[in-house]
Amino acid sequence: MRHSSPLEIWKFGGASLADARGVERAAGLIAAHPGPLVVVASAFGGVTDLLLDGARAATAGKRDEAARAAATFLRRHREVVHSITPRGTLRRTLLAAIDAAAREYRELSAAVGVLGHVEARASDLLVSRGERVSARVLAAAVQVARRRATYVDAVEVIATDGQYGGAAPNLAVTSRRARRILGPLIETRTIPVVPGFIGYAPDGSITTLGRGGSDLTATVLGRALRAARVVLWKDVPGILTADPRLVPDARLIPQLHHREAAEVAHYGAKVLHPRALIPIADTRIVLHVRSFLDPNQPGTEVSARRTSIGYPVKAVATVHRQAVLTVAGKGMIGVHGIAARTFAAVDAERLSVSTIFQASSESSIGFTLPEPEAERGVRALRHAFRDELANGLIDSVSARPGTAVVAVVGDGMAGTPGIAARVFAALADGSVNVVAIAQGSSERNISLVVTESDVPVAVRQIHSAFQLSKIGGGRPISTPRTDVVMLGFGRVGRALADQIAGANGESDVRVVGLLDRSGYVFDPRGLSRRRLLNLAHAKDAGAQLAAIGGRRASSAEALTTMASHAVTRPVLVDVTSEETSDLLRAALGHGFHLVLANKKPLAGSAETCAQLMTDAAAARRQIRYEATVGAGLPIIDTYHKLVDTGDRVLRIDGCVSGTLMFVLSAITSGAAFSEAVREAVERGYAEPDPREDLSGRDAARKAVILARLMGYQGAAPAPDDLVPRSLARVTLGDFMKRLPSLDAEWAARVRREASRGRVLRYVVTATPRSVSARLTSVPASSAMGALEGTRNLVAFTTRRYRTEPLVVSGPGAGPEVTAAGILNDIHGIAGAVGRGFMPRLLEHYWRLKIS
Ligand code: ADP
Ligand code: ASP
Ligand code: MG
Repeated sequence: MRHSSPLEIWKFGGASLADARGVERAAGLIAAHPGPLVVVASAFGGVTDLLLDGARAATAGKRDEAARAAATFLRRHREVVHSITPRGTLRRTLLAAIDAAAREYRELSAAVGVLGHVEARASDLLVSRGERVSARVLAAAVQVARRRATYVDAVEVIATDGQYGGAAPNLAVTSRRARRILGPLIETRTIPVVPGFIGYAPDGSITTLGRGGSDLTATVLGRALRAARVVLWKDVPGILTADPRLVPDARLIPQLHHREAAEVAHYGAKVLHPRALIPIADTRIVLHVRSFLDPNQPGTEVSARRTSIGYPVKAVATVHRQAVLTVAGKGMIGVHGIAARTFAAVDAERLSVSTIFQASSESSIGFTLPEPEAERGVRALRHAFRDELANGLIDSVSARPGTAVVAVVGDGMAGTPGIAARVFAALADGSVNVVAIAQGSSERNISLVVTESDVPVAVRQIHSAFQLSKIGGGRPISTPRTDVVMLGFGRVGRALADQIAGANGESDVRVVGLLDRSGYVFDPRGLSRRRLLNLAHAKDAGAQLAAIGGRRASSAEALTTMASHAVTRPVLVDVTSEETSDLLRAALGHGFHLVLANKKPLAGSAETCAQLMTDAAAARRQIRYEATVGAGLPIIDTYHKLVDTGDRVLRIDGCVSGTLMFVLSAITSGAAFSEAVREAVERGYAEPDPREDLSGRDAARKAVILARLMGYQGAAPAPDDLVPRSLARVTLGDFMKRLPSLDAEWAARVRREASRGRVLRYVVTATPRSVSARLTSVPASSAMGALEGTRNLVAFTTRRYRTEPLVVSGPGAGPEVTAAGILNDIHGIAGAVGRGFMPRLLEHYWRLKIS
């Protein structure tokens, strides 16, 4: 056969051919395809079940029900025919065929009713009506759409081995027949429309290929006719990473190797018949699973190509309603041939085993069978081992129903260490008990047996452990990484990037994204040191990310994009000084942990802070914020350590503003106030507008953060303001110009205090019930009085440290130490995740919520 364009086999599933609209849509697609086609039709959606249920009802003596099934069958098909064909011969012929099929069905079910059971052979004959009628209707619809099409009965073409209920096609005979019967039609540009699912046995009777068998019909015809492509049109976008009914965020797999798709199918993903890949496995035929609802989408390509070896795990599949059969006995150890005889016995019954496992002790052999076949399996085995059972060599042959097989599938799994460990860790996390385990020696799958009720949790746990819902998911992570996204890329952010990149690949922390007001830069593989340095230079020169290779987007959009990639342990670091609460909560929703150097979200209203904490708890994400107080000094950390060891913190006093400390210690040593402020700005200790610090607002924020640690639920204190009202509203330039007018007064104050042996300090005090931020005087010889430069000091008065408080003191300002504090939090998150850590601050808010 030679054609200008290559032959394709198109199969339309029952879910697609659900009603007249579905049939018309399918006909439309077919008619619009310019190249040669062979079409395979499934029964209309639900019809196979309807026919089987009717037949079962008939054998149970419920004749009415069987008659109702026949009536429904008749009505549904008549409706479709009326809707899609014009009055005339075509319609009359179709209606006559439908009437005949319904009549035969009624008569046949009456006959099986007399017999009292549905033999597989009779059942096949009964259900074959579904496909035979749907294919006729579809052929007519294609004709109505003005393409030449003709119905060809599968019984003329698909030869099988005659195993009723699940026959295997005879490829050689089918190929000859297909070429002889379908070949000439294709040559004359007529589209054959063939019923799926059915074939003929060696004795000429009708058999079926097992549930979902139309997929197999399509691939068998693909092979027989040497088609270039087999397209399965389905109600899903393609083959997904898991059954979308179990895992709502299952993702489309763009490409799979034949072998991988075969495993997915074998392990029960209903999307493909278990044996559908066999006919085309060693061919160049490409199988496409495509969306009937959205035909422009590419769907999944199954082919001989091997792509994305970097993502070893591709999908999680499930075989439901299984029973575990076990042959057990101490006497089996070392006795050869037991396994062979076990499977020979099962094979003789033509039972399909999906998973086999054997403990290395050899004291038992187990395997799974479909639940309805378990009893037959047990009977066959008891018979095969009757001697061993009698003489005690085998203790028991038993079946455990109510189980399912979950299989983790992917070609690259072979030789990738750590996959099994991740699977089982994920299951343990979900409290799923694993009944049995098997790993195919091909290492293309790991399968395990769980109780049926555990299936949803098991599948979801594994799916999320490998981040299969994410772009680039499916990789095992040998050393768990922490992926950092920075909100803000100012001085602290750049220092942090430098410290992270400086670890030179030795750290498992990477920067994957940066956000600023203009947009974002993102690379899920991590931003290189070089790139970060370049970006930092450009930012130093005043550029915005969107202008230096970034994308323009709002921060919320940027986070959504980043979250759709397979990042691990994502941490959002907030180094802005904005009101970012909403964005932070959105980030929690996307699965980010949070590290804050930004005080505003924690020091605002108690409700905003509580909201953030409860959101974090609900999302099981951490919030750390050591750098908000005392930069890199371990202040919040010390608080937790005290509390964790059973102490109670009664009060915290501190000099926590680097700028105020610098200014006050400078004027104590004789500098003019205006000079001291100017120097603080120049050295980068103060905010660009130093009034932010001089007003005490920044210190007050730190104070309220400390107080909230202890359960304080009020607002931030009104701080002592070092900026006189007359200078509060003038421009920054004016402010700096008029600063010297304050010098004399400050100098006098300093002298006054000095004469009493005291110095001025800006001190915050926090207790569970109160919080303040004051300019006061302290003895020059005290710990606070002795502070110099930008040093911070925090004193914890606790039950244990009551008379002499526990003091933490050291450099408390500057980008380097602040970045160090942040990095410490990032490492802290990496260490605590999985240990169920919850930030201490939370407990108060939980109490608040609960009470
Ligand atoms: P058809 O209409 O062609 O017979 P099926 O109903 O047999 O199609 O197969 C599609 C169904 O398979 C989907 O509706 C979905 O619920 C189920 N399914 C199970 N596992 C998967 C998977 N991994 N990917 C896609 N669909 C799946
Ligand atoms: N109609 C059959 C079934 O429902 C075959 C198929 O749809 O592929 O199993
Ligand atoms: Mg199907």
